[in-house]
Amino acid sequence: MQVKVITPFKIRGEIIPLGTVLRVPAESMPKLAGRVVPIRTEPAKLICYWCHSTEFWLSIYGRTICRKCHPPALGAEVAA
Ligand SMILES: [Zn+2]
Repeated sequence: MQVKVITPFKIRGEIIPLGTVLRVPAESMPKLAGRVVPIRTEPAKLICYWCHSTEFWLSIYGRTICRKCHPPALGAEVAA
């Protein structure tokens, strides 16, 4: 994963300056916590925690709801 350094630190004696973009394996992230921030390479996707579907609909109350688990009732969905 790609991360950006937010506080300078050393790797094997070498100073990693602020703002450096690193590629690090996920397992070394805990050691770097507080010093680096992950960089999103793609927009965040909604995934239903229950069925893992990525299809959502927007209710008239502004809530985003899983289409598989809770199909919209007639008139409950905001028209696209
Ligand atoms: Zn679902």
